[in-house]
Amino acid sequence: MAARPHARRKGTSGKATGMPADTEGGRAFLQERLAIWAKVGFLITFGLFVLDEVVPLLGIETARPAMAQRLHLAVVVLWGGAWLTLRRGAFSRTTLGVIDAVIVLLGCPLAALSEVLDDPNTYYTNFPTIIVFIGSVGRALFVPSSAWRSFLVSSGIAVLVLGAAAGATAVTDLARVLDTRALLTLSIAYSVCAVALATVASRVIYGLRQEIRKALQLGQYTLEEKLGEGGMGTVYRARHAMLRRPTAVKLLPPEKVGESSLERFEREVQLTALLSHPNTVAIFDYGRTPDGIFYYAMEYLDGVDLESLVRLHGPQPPARVVHILRQVCGSLGEAHERGLIHRDVKPANIILCERGGTPDVAKVVDFGLVKDLEQSEGITQADTLTGTPLYLAPEAIRGEEVDGRADLYALGAVGYFLLVGRNVFEGKTLAEICGHHLHAAPSSPSERLGQPIPPRLEALILRCLEKELERRPRTARELARALEACDDAEPWTEGRARAWWADHVVAEAAPGTESVEAAHGTLTPSLLRSTQSAHP
Ligand code: ADP
Ligand code: MG
Repeated sequence: MAARPHARRKGTSGKATGMPADTEGGRAFLQERLAIWAKVGFLITFGLFVLDEVVPLLGIETARPAMAQRLHLAVVVLWGGAWLTLRRGAFSRTTLGVIDAVIVLLGCPLAALSEVLDDPNTYYTNFPTIIVFIGSVGRALFVPSSAWRSFLVSSGIAVLVLGAAAGATAVTDLARVLDTRALLTLSIAYSVCAVALATVASRVIYGLRQEIRKALQLGQYTLEEKLGEGGMGTVYRARHAMLRRPTAVKLLPPEKVGESSLERFEREVQLTALLSHPNTVAIFDYGRTPDGIFYYAMEYLDGVDLESLVRLHGPQPPARVVHILRQVCGSLGEAHERGLIHRDVKPANIILCERGGTPDVAKVVDFGLVKDLEQSEGITQADTLTGTPLYLAPEAIRGEEVDGRADLYALGAVGYFLLVGRNVFEGKTLAEICGHHLHAAPSSPSERLGQPIPPRLEALILRCLEKELERRPRTARELARALEACDDAEPWTEGRARAWWADHVVAEAAPGTESVEAAHGTLTPSLLRSTQSAHP
């Protein structure tokens, strides 16, 4: 998922620029498309520039005035520069609007001038009109823009290009030998076509996008930006029609609605809603749209999940790890006491965010695999085997009954991952990882890290990772108390947390980058069998 720095994404209204509406997603999309368009423009102009250099080598005679060549080079630099600029950083909607206008309103007339100066005969082939066409229609195809804005920009291109071409023609000898009025009339006629085409294209493309946006309205919620996607649901940031509180909506995509996944989804929302611990994500609402999309709304967690945290910033200080684990123990403690086992405790399901001005508040999400010990007969075999094996307790791999101690094993593996920056067990295949969980003793975190780790903390992590249930901490509360007693790690104060966040603007990470993709597959019963037979 994308790691999210605090307090970013202030959507500005797109009305002023005529660009698509007011979301960060819309802004990023605009920048992405503009970058593609600038790249296309660069490739075209650069290609033509190279061609102009090659043609004389083939013995075809062209005398290219230096002025024409310089102008052409200026256009190449303009488009190439825009492309490179757009690839880095995030620009405001206004800046993007300016770049969008400048590259065509400056680039196209310069290109036309260069062509006319290059060879007055160019006028016979009506290159300027071709440039108007490519500039305005090409832009409309790539850049999301309202019809009105496309009309204005395309008209600007046509007027500037034809004006530049006519001006350049007037100062050359061409005006004397050629009936430029006839040519100009023809150019204007074709340019009007180009402007009309660009306007209609934008209207159709932009309109389609608006329609899709409308479709992303779920009941009272407007979906804004995709936050993450897991095995079952897709999570969006959302806005409630009346309430202003930040909300996330998880929905079950229609193509995934099957008997068992719907059951799982409902179980997830109902059981999570029973929990009220401050370190458990709070559920607001559950619903179903008329076209059958199931969704639930929950508090929006503007922070970074632990997997992204480690991927972006490496191993975490022991004090912070204790601070995080204690909070997760609180969340799990409540769940376990209600007879609920999370069963999917892993870094991606723990989000570190800020609450009421307090940094580093951990929130446990995704109770999608939660198991109610009192009425567990509703759970299918396939359910028990879903998830990543990186944090899976041996008894869960064997398909045995699990209790809260399976979550504590997983939490131990999460703690290990936070301390070391690597997973307890690594392997190329799911079967290999599962085999390690079943049979291999984990090497100590300090050994893996190559740095000392407070011994009590290290011992506690390894106790959670015991293969035998009896040797692990008995309950989440007990683990929390033991973590509290790990006073050999300096405390993680609010001040330290705040300083950390001030130092680390968490960068936007592309979804899925470098994640342990292989390990995120789904454990199927057949795979499980192969695991077991591989390690008899
Ligand atoms: P799945 O069951 O498909 O794994 P999750 O509930 O784990 O779905 O959500 C997938 C991802 O979406 C999470 O890893 C997290 O990055 C993001 N996410 C989930 N809930 C929230 C939330 N309340 N606020 C912000 N991001 C969230
Ligand atoms: Mg998840």
